[in-house]
Amino acid sequence: MDYSAKDLMEMDDTYGAHNYKPLDVVLNKGEGVWVWDVEGNKYMDMLSSYSALNHGHRNPVIIKKMKEQLDKLTLTSRAFRNDQLPLFLKKVCEVTGMEMALPMNTGAEGVETALKATRKWGHKIKGIPENKAEIIAAANNFHGRTITIISLSTEEQYRDGFGPMTPGFPIVPYGNVKAIEEAINENTAGVLLEPIQGEGGIVVPPEGYLKEVKEICEKNNVLLIFDEIQSGLGRAGKLFAWQWENAKPDGIILGKALGGGVYPVSIFAASKEVLGVFNPGDHGSTFGGNPIAAAVGLAALNYLVEEDLPGKALTMGNYFMDKLRSLKNPVIKEVRGKGLLIGLELKEPARPYAEKLKEKGLLCKETHGVVIRFAPPLVITKDELDWAFEQVKEVFET
Ligand SMILES: *Cc1c(COP(=O)(O)O)cnc(C)c1O
Repeated sequence: MDYSAKDLMEMDDTYGAHNYKPLDVVLNKGEGVWVWDVEGNKYMDMLSSYSALNHGHRNPVIIKKMKEQLDKLTLTSRAFRNDQLPLFLKKVCEVTGMEMALPMNTGAEGVETALKATRKWGHKIKGIPENKAEIIAAANNFHGRTITIISLSTEEQYRDGFGPMTPGFPIVPYGNVKAIEEAINENTAGVLLEPIQGEGGIVVPPEGYLKEVKEICEKNNVLLIFDEIQSGLGRAGKLFAWQWENAKPDGIILGKALGGGVYPVSIFAASKEVLGVFNPGDHGSTFGGNPIAAAVGLAALNYLVEEDLPGKALTMGNYFMDKLRSLKNPVIKEVRGKGLLIGLELKEPARPYAEKLKEKGLLCKETHGVVIRFAPPLVITKDELDWAFEQVKEVFET
């Protein structure tokens, strides 16, 4: 039987925990930058599942690779080897410039893997006394939702009621090099940063920040780890956002778009010195590195490079930001971002504007209360962006 949108939303709210407050739109189809709801209304997806859909909905190349793999082999666990994972690992190392990689599923698991590797490197290689390793993180960060990861969050709601927290994560203001320099001590194993803060409201750090942090980390024998789960894989107009400052980190975490918009795939890539700390049995995941994930991840990386999605994001992002900056409405405070990771900051709550944009056929999500994020799939065309801007203009200028 067919359920109405109202039936489905009621069922959702009755049986599902209320840990999200989604826009009231029930989708059942997607293609490229477009999605459709159960009533047949068409919308442009301007959120891209928080940048997991850089390749667009149901990208035909990725769907094809996944279907081929579904017909061959789906899961082996890491107790056995499979013929897809080695190819994926090699590709990850090639594109990131790293030497080794450890596959997981969700972004949070990738971050946990990076934290474990960094701590263990600190204790076993750097020589920090056991249980003393510290990893410095930035205020206003978003790295995921596990108990350890929320321990480094400065968002009160993310932590409220979930204590006790995991110790060992000093927090410094984002964008301030001196604060990192001062927080480093002999027990510091690493610094974990987003090169652009995504959930924090599309915060681009001051120019030179990443590069200077890298120098300080090198000087102090501290690992620099970038969480590029959202900013990476073309989203910010480069394959990785660290490339804006040529600030290559010691380790990088990827997720979201690594799964090509179809499957959860994350990975932590680093040097041999860092990932070499893991011995058999130290860490793992039943589904991490499974043949579907590896085939999809490989296809996602190949597609990004071959279709130059970073270049497209840069051109289209600059084009759209220029248009947004031409909007005349005193409620607009700032337009900022890089590539197609764009934030429109308002002087008042953004949610009502997201609702109005939805009515115009543009699905956006407010972030940090007052910021509207524009982050369409990177396959978006100029005509599609023109259409999007017309809708934004109507909401903000009439
Ligand atoms: C989304 C995100 C994560 C967490 O990824 P999940 O797949 O939701 O666990 C971590 N870091 C950043 C920067 C993210 O944007």
